[in-house]
Amino acid sequence: MKIVILTGAGISAESGLGTFRDAGGLWEKYPLEQVATPEGFAANPALVHEFYNARRAQAAAAKPNAAHLALARLERTYPGEVLLVTQNVDDLHERGGSQTVWHMHGALNRATCAACGHKWPAPMQMQATDPCPACQAPATRPDIVWFGETPHFMNAIAQKLATCDLFVSIGTSGTVYPAAGFVHEAKRHRADTLELNLESSRAFDETRAGKATDIVPDWVNSLL
Ligand code: NAD
Repeated sequence: MKIVILTGAGISAESGLGTFRDAGGLWEKYPLEQVATPEGFAANPALVHEFYNARRAQAAAAKPNAAHLALARLERTYPGEVLLVTQNVDDLHERGGSQTVWHMHGALNRATCAACGHKWPAPMQMQATDPCPACQAPATRPDIVWFGETPHFMNAIAQKLATCDLFVSIGTSGTVYPAAGFVHEAKRHRADTLELNLESSRAFDETRAGKATDIVPDWVNSLL
C-alpha cells in the first residue's frame, strides 16, 4: 500500500509549540499579516525576523513527541511506500528519526537570500541586514513560505496524491490551502482518507479523534 501523510501544527502541540489557534502563544502576539506575508516583510523586516528568531529558539528547545517517533518508526519498518509531507517549519520529524520529510512551507533552520535565492543553514538569530554568503546582498530572510507564496513540492505532491492508496492527515485544521485541498485530491483518485486530530473536519472517510501522542502511535501499531 502507498501512504501519503500530511502533518500540521497539531502534531507538535504536545512538544510545546503552539498552533495558530493557541491562546497566549506567539501567533497571538504577532499579527499574521505582519509576520507571514511578503508585504509584512517588506514593511517591517526587523519585526518578521524577531518573530522567526523566537520561533526558532522555541523549536530548538522542544523535543519530538511520541507521534513524531511513531511516524519515523512507520517509515523505517513499513513494507509499502510512506511519504511524509509537513506544513510545519520545525524539525521535530527529523529529530524524531524521519529520514525524508517534504517541508511544503519551508523550514526555520534555513535562511534564504531575497535577492539571489541562495539557501544556507540559519543561525539562531538572524536579521535582514545579514549579508548573503553567496552574493553579499543584505537581504536575508527565513526560508519560510509565506501566505501568497507558492509552497514547495507541489507538483511532486500532486503526483503522489494521484497514486496513493491512503491519505492520512494529522493535526491540521484544514484551513490553509493548498494543503487543505489534498484530501479532495486524494478522494478524486479513489484513495481512502483518514484524519487523526482532536476534532473531526468531516472531510475524511474516517476520523480518529484524540491527542496526537495517543492516536498516532495507536494507528502506526495497527498498521505494522
Ligand atoms: P492549525 O493551528 O490551523 O490547526 C492545528 C490543528 O491541530 C487543529 O485542527 C487542532 O484541533 C489540532 N490539534 C491541536 N492540538 C492537537 C493535539 N495535541 N493532537 C492532535 N491534534 C491537535 O495548524 P495547521 O493546520 O498546521 O495550519 C496551518 C499553518 O500553521 C501552516 O502554515 C503551518 O506552517 C503553521 N504552523 C506551524 C507550526 C510548526 O511548525 N510547529 C506551528 C504553528 C503554525
